[in-house]
Amino acid sequence: AMTRTAAPTSRTLTPFRLMMVLFVSAIHLGSCYVPASQPYVSSLSNLQMHRSQRTADRVSCKISAGAAAESTARGADNVLATSDAWTQALERSSPPGLHEAYTALRRYRLSKPLLYLRQFSAACPKEAAALCSWVDFSVPRTVREAVNCFCSQQTTQFIGAVLVLTFISRLALGPFRLADSLAAGLTAVAWCFQEWLIHDKLLHSPWNWFGRTVHRWHHELPYYHVCVDQVQIAAPWFAVAATLAVTAGLATAHLAPFLSALATYSACGGVYEACHFLAHTPVRPLPRELGRMRAHHMKHHLINDEYWLAFTVPGIDTLLGTSPSTKSPLRSRR
Ligand SMILES: [Zn+2]
Ligand SMILES: [Zn+2]
Ligand SMILES: [Zn+2]
Repeated sequence: AMTRTAAPTSRTLTPFRLMMVLFVSAIHLGSCYVPASQPYVSSLSNLQMHRSQRTADRVSCKISAGAAAESTARGADNVLATSDAWTQALERSSPPGLHEAYTALRRYRLSKPLLYLRQFSAACPKEAAALCSWVDFSVPRTVREAVNCFCSQQTTQFIGAVLVLTFISRLALGPFRLADSLAAGLTAVAWCFQEWLIHDKLLHSPWNWFGRTVHRWHHELPYYHVCVDQVQIAAPWFAVAATLAVTAGLATAHLAPFLSALATYSACGGVYEACHFLAHTPVRPLPRELGRMRAHHMKHHLINDEYWLAFTVPGIDTLLGTSPSTKSPLRSRR
């Protein structure tokens, strides 16, 4: 099934193949230099950790004394494993300039679930205003608004561009064959498991690193917010995927199916971004499947972040035992 007819079968780097490598790599790498236009992005690049809890004590919003006491108790619980002050600071770090807002967010969450910015604004107006400089809370409510909002995101446009370019590159290599379908199918299946693995093992990792911190900030926000991964994260990610795919394609002299795999991978990335984006909006009406996907992700955010880790295909959690019944108490996995 892997035989090729008209195309050259040698493993040598022909000028055409070299051009392909440069083409795909340049597109992917070049997009890494999209200027940082949002405050979120620029502040990520000079990430600062707040080592002091003093600012937390200055938070002036109306939170009951009971909740504050519970907050201290839980804080102590969280750092039981590590008495090291630096690790403790990492566990409690906030985006630069938003320490007071995030401290208030954490306290609010101890008393009730936080879905809407307006809940937080009512309790902590000053902190809520600061938060709006960091995150876009104008979530779409209709399908049309959702499409407009999603398509206006840099990351969406980037994924669309690389998907089209990779597809065109594949078309240039000749007609589609069985190997292309196999490569695409395997890639799509692998993607679904990759989502779960990255979310469970890296974004909720037992050790502290940049990705985990950024993901915790996402969890600490009011549930409904405009949320698409930054292009500064998506572009290097796809650059690595493209480099691997093209290298493997050249090494095995089967570039075509590897480009099909890369195109599928890009498409899956787009589907994932769209799903996560939709999951964090109150858009109605939604097709039943998407509504189910959103409810699944809400459980991850609002019930227990050790479960319901899949995005596009919630069934992956059933398969991997991380979609428990919510009727009985949940056992800690981590
Ligand atoms: Zn989100
Ligand atoms: Zn989320
Ligand atoms: Zn999570």
